[in-house]
Amino acid sequence: MKSDGAPLQVKATDANQRFSRLLAESEQGRDIVITKRGRPVARLQSIHTAVTDTPIGTPVEGEVPDFEKRTDIIETCRRMNDIGLNQGTSGNASVRVEGGMLITPSGMDYDMMVPADIVKIGITGRLLHGHRRPSSEWHFHCRVMEAMPRAGAILHTHSINATALACLGMGIPSFHYMVGVAGGRDIRCAPYATFGTEELADAVLDALDGRLACLMANHGMLVLGRDISDAFKRAVEVETLAAQYLKALAVGEPNLLSDGEMDVILEKFKTYSGWAQPNK
Ligand code: 13P
Ligand code: ZN
Repeated sequence: MKSDGAPLQVKATDANQRFSRLLAESEQGRDIVITKRGRPVARLQSIHTAVTDTPIGTPVEGEVPDFEKRTDIIETCRRMNDIGLNQGTSGNASVRVEGGMLITPSGMDYDMMVPADIVKIGITGRLLHGHRRPSSEWHFHCRVMEAMPRAGAILHTHSINATALACLGMGIPSFHYMVGVAGGRDIRCAPYATFGTEELADAVLDALDGRLACLMANHGMLVLGRDISDAFKRAVEVETLAAQYLKALAVGEPNLLSDGEMDVILEKFKTYSGWAQPNK
């Protein structure tokens, strides 16, 4: 049996009794993750699988570089699922590092992810380090990192309210001053394109022009940050705004702030409690 990227999860308390059986399964190519209180603590993986059967890249051996940044990415992704900002294996995250970026692997359960599963790619998408396939959305992660050199992290989620608006093809106008956290007078919605395509990367880049967040039609949202915690904070805010906007729309037509009012806010945000963000 070949590893299909979906590890078998075994509680540490059960692993002891079942060790011979697990070892046999591991030798067959099954990737096994030992968990404590639902979190992975160790992995049993056939060296044959790790060396020869992984679909892409080189096996991770020895010390994993950028260990803390990888841990931050995983923690952030788990947090976004824990608070309902994303579901299942949807969404992805990247963080800029020397020589390129670290990006989540494609289609992998965040609770099963360990630092070595995070993939390092260059700004053009070339695989530099890792044994997993990088997120299918590497096109937009690379293009956005390239176009916005001061963006240190990107978070993409399928959060319920932002996605609901995006499914209506709607962005978020200036119904609330906090829209300014996305860097402009509104938050645009990029037109639909198939996930994982260069076409989607083009659409996202256009929608992000002068902004730090956008919605993606029939798909989800994307935010930038100077680091992953800044991106997370902005994603929470965009999702909150989407929920507030939908709620207001359910009753009537929200009053919009004028361009002049929004410009005052954008000016204030240059110095206000951590929302200041260079766009380029
Ligand atoms: P990946 O698991 O490949 O990152 O895909 C998830 C997703 O949200 C695609 O848009
Ligand atoms: Zn997605």
